[in-house]
Amino acid sequence: MALDRNTPNDLNAFWMPFTANRQFKKAPRLLASAKDMHYFTTDGRQVLDGTAGLWCCNAGHCRPKITEAIQKQVAELDYAPPFQMGHPVAFELANRLVDIAPEGIDHAFFTNSGSESVETALKIALAYHRARGEGTRTRLIGREKGYHGVNFGGISVGGLVNNRRMFGTLLAGVDHLPHTHLPENAFTRGQPEHGANLADELERIVALHGAETIAAVIVEPMSGSAGVILPPKGYLQRLRDITKKHGILLIFDEVITGFGRLGSAFASQHYGVTPDMMTTAKGLTNGVIPMGAVLVSGEIYDTFMTGPEHMIELFHGYTYSGNPVASAAGIATLETYREEALFERAAEMAPYWEDALHSLKGARHVIDVRNTGLVGAIELEPLPGEPTKRAFNAFLQAYEKGILIRTTGDIIAMSPPLIIEKEHIDQLIGTIGEVLATLD
Ligand code: PMP
Repeated sequence: MALDRNTPNDLNAFWMPFTANRQFKKAPRLLASAKDMHYFTTDGRQVLDGTAGLWCCNAGHCRPKITEAIQKQVAELDYAPPFQMGHPVAFELANRLVDIAPEGIDHAFFTNSGSESVETALKIALAYHRARGEGTRTRLIGREKGYHGVNFGGISVGGLVNNRRMFGTLLAGVDHLPHTHLPENAFTRGQPEHGANLADELERIVALHGAETIAAVIVEPMSGSAGVILPPKGYLQRLRDITKKHGILLIFDEVITGFGRLGSAFASQHYGVTPDMMTTAKGLTNGVIPMGAVLVSGEIYDTFMTGPEHMIELFHGYTYSGNPVASAAGIATLETYREEALFERAAEMAPYWEDALHSLKGARHVIDVRNTGLVGAIELEPLPGEPTKRAFNAFLQAYEKGILIRTTGDIIAMSPPLIIEKEHIDQLIGTIGEVLATLD
């Protein structure tokens, strides 16, 4: 069926992801274009982007440097097979990625999404232990409320109930650490005080199964999709200490926290804890072209680089791993972050952002406010008997008033582009305040 790009006459064919399709199609919200901090809707409205798309457009929208790099690359080398062949652009991007990664993380394996980065990291963990003669290490440990994408490994180690329970038994041999979303930490600015001891649950799991059965622990250093849950002070270091003690790999899922969101290139630098692997995507290309990367330690990489030289070391990869156009987008994105000092900018704006967010303490329905870097959450008391509805209504009303926020459960989450100005913060928080004042 022919489609007018601005007024599609039939929305039925597209089964939309993570969307209430029937409701959406009755009253669609369609975006036509974007520039810097704003979206423009098909019905001609300007909407301030409070979410950097979906936690990914960290440099803002339609940045000429990135779009031009893509145009140039696609006209020059559109595609190159990634197996037993290469092209310079992907190598260049890998170098630049490891340049901004923590010390000791010095190789990049390319994927096309956060979900694929997670699957790749889990598989590398299993293969790593086998390569070292410890093939009994097959168990994977995630955390309650964790989000690691939607593929089978990711939903198995993930801990968001709705994302798991439609899909049967999932991977065997997975355990979950308890989450750290504790009521006693409500309204903490930045990292909360309580909960570091919850990392010790890992010792309990180790005691239960034996360290020799455990391959890896995967956590988001800051849980994004569950509603911005910050690590309690000392928590990540404890996980690091316990994993190291037992020869277990530690994977940080930095799909959201990577590329400046917390005010450093990665959360691992922000929190001063270096994992063995980091999964990334989203901000890697400013969200413009699908791409992810797993960043791994030299120790892991070197473990695979043994055996005859003509042999493939890791039987894993994707048709689009290190795609030239995506790689060019990645390079232009990293250059933009550096030239505009956007990671530093996130750190500079963070105190203003924090004050603005916490000014909503005391607003109607608000039971918690959380923040770090340029990410924040406002947790609402659910409507009795109708969980998620109150926050979703806030999202709808905010959109009508010209701001884009996100909700997960009864939590409003925000992660604006790092180019945000103070007046945008005022508009975002002011509009949310207005919405909350009248919300049922
Ligand atoms: N891991 C984390 C921490 C994420 O936040 C996300 C996406 N929000 C993913 C993995 C999955 O990424 P993608 O949607 O690109 O597959």
